[in-house]
Amino acid sequence: MEMDKLVSLCKRRGFLFQSSEIYGGLNGFWDYGPLGVELKRNLKEAWWRDMVKAHDDLHAPAGAPRPYEMVGLDCSIIMHPQVWKCSGHYDLFHDFMVDCRESKKRYRHDQVNGRWVEAKGKRVFAAVQEGGEEGEKLAEQRALKFFNLRAKNADELKWDGPLVSLTTVQDFARVLGPDAKELGTLTPPREFNLMFKTYVGALSGEEGAAFLRPETAQGIFVNFKNVCDSGRVRIPFGIAQIGKSFRNEITPRNFTFRSREFEQMEIEFFCHPDESVAWYRYWRDRRFRWYTDLGLAGERLRLREHHADELSHYSRGTADIEYAFPFLPPGDFGELEGIAHRGDFDLRSHMEGKLVKQGDALVVEQGPDGKPKHRGSGKDLRYFDDVKKERYLPHVIEPSAGADRGTLAFLCEAYREDTAPDENGKPTERVYLKLHPRLAPIKAAVFPLVNKDGMPDVAQRLYLELKRDFNVFYDDGGAVGRRYRRQDEAGTPYCLTIDGQTLQDQTVTIRDRDTLQQRRLPLNGVAEELRKLLR
Ligand code: ATP
Repeated sequence: MEMDKLVSLCKRRGFLFQSSEIYGGLNGFWDYGPLGVELKRNLKEAWWRDMVKAHDDLHAPAGAPRPYEMVGLDCSIIMHPQVWKCSGHYDLFHDFMVDCRESKKRYRHDQVNGRWVEAKGKRVFAAVQEGGEEGEKLAEQRALKFFNLRAKNADELKWDGPLVSLTTVQDFARVLGPDAKELGTLTPPREFNLMFKTYVGALSGEEGAAFLRPETAQGIFVNFKNVCDSGRVRIPFGIAQIGKSFRNEITPRNFTFRSREFEQMEIEFFCHPDESVAWYRYWRDRRFRWYTDLGLAGERLRLREHHADELSHYSRGTADIEYAFPFLPPGDFGELEGIAHRGDFDLRSHMEGKLVKQGDALVVEQGPDGKPKHRGSGKDLRYFDDVKKERYLPHVIEPSAGADRGTLAFLCEAYREDTAPDENGKPTERVYLKLHPRLAPIKAAVFPLVNKDGMPDVAQRLYLELKRDFNVFYDDGGAVGRRYRRQDEAGTPYCLTIDGQTLQDQTVTIRDRDTLQQRRLPLNGVAEELRKLLR
């Protein structure tokens, strides 16, 4: 599947628009159109339903060490600035950037690639933003241009090694920046904090400074005690939250994959330290299955367990659920969700203050005055088990997913082209979105075959009946074949057509988007059948 085709379908059919498009757009921000908002909402609702609302507190699901409870939370986007100091985001949540003095563009240091090449007695690092074959091709074009060579003289370029990251390069004077004409225009890498800063109230100085949350997780940690004290939850239990997060990404790209404003679906699962590894395994497998159940299956989806040297200092295990997005070079995968065993790091940080590693232990980081660098809340966040009479700091398993990346992956996976007969039986090209019925923006479309003989009346009655429970769409415009194709492109799994026979025997045809098969159903059984099909 070529990404361009999906991007153009998304715009044409109203899934996704560039934010503020009439003013030229704003890089890293996206708007969901009428179909896109339904798709993303269905994804979030499927997650909320499967993880929280329909969760059975009484029985252990397959693979879980024991039954557990799940509750939800909806926290504010702007929180007390101390939250980010203790969580580590204030000091550590940064990427390295390089600026180009010539083109005025900014790049993420680790996202610039390039190849060493020599010609006419000069050795340069030809940098590009792409990877893989595409990156190599562009590096060649850049080198040809720089050395003033024609494509037919490409063999004058002496390449030294494959495409490598700019992070391997020391001598920036020899770097030809991705958009520069001269050598040595890139600045040395500098730290750049990814949190968006804002000011609360009328104070404009540092006193009023606050941040838009870069993740929803911290709202859950700082409410852990509130939830324990107010509810009937007992460990093990999970708290789920869906909400917007903001990261001032240096180079947002790849459609919605890396945006500056996005939505997360996060669970913090609190358990006894002795059982935490078993719970980590449970959540890793459970979350992977969630994607495959909704149709992201096969070679394009994988579960990747991190190696020991990739783990953060507090983690006893982390796995990523990754998808081979079509915009990535072959063999590359992009993260949809991370599942991390976080130990007691977060609750301890909010209790004692920002932690750092010292040997094998985590200790409160000291400032130059010997006092905690970032002081915690001082509140006792330990859990009291009144059966075992034990007080302890629970361990946390965190499955953290992105709703926008998920939506994008399901769209990529769903995009299909085939040939199908049109209304005259002539094979024609067809584009359709093979979305799982739970995710499809429109569940069924209702058509009167023709706008006469009482067919519109029957069709409208059916439409109104179904509308009570499902997002259905009424369409009486144009040839029925064309109406089917419009629904195929929107990913609508079923089309219901009222025809001449309906008026005689009270049956309608139901057409399946994927198989194109049609069968007849009694008119009064349509709602029940749809309910069954959409489950
Ligand atoms: P990456 O390495 O791709 O920047 P991350 O490891 O920083 O991602 P996490 O902090 O683990 O991501 O965030 C959890 C999830 O939030 C990610 O798996 C992803 O689905 C989503 N997410 C993170 N950053 C972005 C972004 N800039 N745009 C869209 N979704 C994002």
